[in-house]
Amino acid sequence: MGYLLLFTVLGLLIFGVWSIFNDIYVYIYDQIRYSLKVRQPLKSSRKLILNKYSAYYKVLPLAKKKEFERRVQRFIYSKRFISRSSLPVSEEMKVLISASAIQLTFGLPEIYLSNFDKILIYPDSYYSHITKKYHLGEVNPRAGIILLSWNHFVEGYGDLTDSFNVGIHEMAHAIHFENRIRNEEFDFLNKDALQTLSIITDREMPKINSGQPHLLRAYAGTNEYEFFAVALEYFFEQPTQMSEQLPDLYQTIAILLRQDPLKLYNFSSPK
Ligand SMILES: [Zn+2]
Repeated sequence: MGYLLLFTVLGLLIFGVWSIFNDIYVYIYDQIRYSLKVRQPLKSSRKLILNKYSAYYKVLPLAKKKEFERRVQRFIYSKRFISRSSLPVSEEMKVLISASAIQLTFGLPEIYLSNFDKILIYPDSYYSHITKKYHLGEVNPRAGIILLSWNHFVEGYGDLTDSFNVGIHEMAHAIHFENRIRNEEFDFLNKDALQTLSIITDREMPKINSGQPHLLRAYAGTNEYEFFAVALEYFFEQPTQMSEQLPDLYQTIAILLRQDPLKLYNFSSPK
């Protein structure tokens, strides 16, 4: 009886030690694999996708292009891209969704939205049982998920001056949350500019909601988060109009993101 107890305790001990070592081994293996992948240059097939579809990447000077590729590579390997249909996750999905996040954060120190480790891709708009509405995209900071309708994402990429861009919109929400979540990427947006933005938001939202003509579409009047996300779509897609009609909003976002699309696009709207 005494031996049986001894062997059981010994067996449990060996199993416990073995599973701890196994966990450590898997963790180290994953870390090494991740850092090796991250350091590799972006594959040329992926650069081709950027060249073909990312107007932002195309106008970057060569040195900046290299930096953009490096950040896209790291973003791709720091996320899990999950398809919500029988459609497999394509290279275009990985590259262009990552590029939309990097576009927004390109002027900032390296931000990879670390709170969000999963990207769920729906083929089209999808029904949310929480909001009881159809969505084109949304972010769930608690679950660390960014959700996107691929059809709408592509439509947004297709026309670069229509001020609709689901990729920019959802990544704007993600950045807004990331800035407030206490992790290694916490508090990276300029505090004074955030304060100015909140004053401008309070000034502009009633105008939008009163129905008077406004540069930003009506959805920006929903709440401060939607105002921010919609404003960022206009900032990148209609910089000339925004800098003329809402100059303080344009300047504030330029300070927040530390970049100026007007200068990048050579003082003309992106084509
Ligand atoms: Zn939104």
